Amino acid sequence: MQNRYLDERTARDIDTRITKILNDLDNPEPPLRLEHVRELLKLDFGFYSSSNTGAIAETIHRLKVAGKQVISRPSLLIDAIKKWQLKALWVPDRKRILLDSELPPAKQRWGEAHEIGHSVLPWHDAVMHGDMKRTLSLACEEQVESEANFAAGRLLFLQDAFVEHVRSSPLTFESVKSLSKVFGNTITSTLWRAVESTDIAAFGMVSQHPKHEMSSEPLRYFVRSKKFCDLFPGVSAMQVFKVLQTFCFGNRGPIGKSDICFVDLSGTEHVFFVEAFFNSHETLTLGVYRRTKVSSFPQGGKTHYS
Ligand SMILES: [Zn+2]
Repeated sequence: MQNRYLDERTARDIDTRITKILNDLDNPEPPLRLEHVRELLKLDFGFYSSSNTGAIAETIHRLKVAGKQVISRPSLLIDAIKKWQLKALWVPDRKRILLDSELPPAKQRWGEAHEIGHSVLPWHDAVMHGDMKRTLSLACEEQVESEANFAAGRLLFLQDAFVEHVRSSPLTFESVKSLSKVFGNTITSTLWRAVESTDIAAFGMVSQHPKHEMSSEPLRYFVRSKKFCDLFPGVSAMQVFKVLQTFCFGNRGPIGKSDICFVDLSGTEHVFFVEAFFNSHETLTLGVYRRTKVSSFPQGGKTHYS
């Protein structure tokens, strides 16, 4: 799944709302404390457990998942959670965010920010809203979900504070890791936002290990900077993955780096520096533009022109 950019007007509208929140919090230093955002917006917060269902006896009347109404009559909340494998919920009439306590802690932060996103966008229907793994994924294509994810990203990465960090130093896997610590977000979401924030041609990829046996879905995300989309629209995630297979090795941490050439729209070859990192679960890859490839002429002072 590839990233997509919201149209400018929508992005600006959402951004204005995030700016207001950050201003009201006196433009905090990273990492953003989500409990301060909840306090400001008077949002209630709680956990549920899909394996310990005693606490969820609530009846619900309407529920939307991925922008579609999936319940329109009284039903038990726990049944809906199980049926749609919901990981996070937004309950507008109670101004309440609910998270599955079994969601890994690193993903809870994103889930919570995503629900805050739904809560601050007034055109997101005021019905109970459920998110599963897919809609919390950064590449979700449903409009309301990509809006909530955009809001989450702008909030957790403190808008232009992150963009300035990304643009003021060379973009490398090491810089992504250190920004992930500074802003308190996962390396995957930091890689994603860094690629979307840079003004040079760059891409990020989340995939299986390139040397392991191919699974049915080897590629999870392929995120491209705007400049990369403009200049290298023909470069696919599978093309990147196949190149990784030629030089990656090892099973933990950095598993390979290399210069790789890709062809731009006009047929010219360009060199990218590509780094891959395996976290024992997924491979994260970052590719950053280096230079135009200089065509090689025969060495030794002899050039063959006819
Ligand atoms: Zn959602």
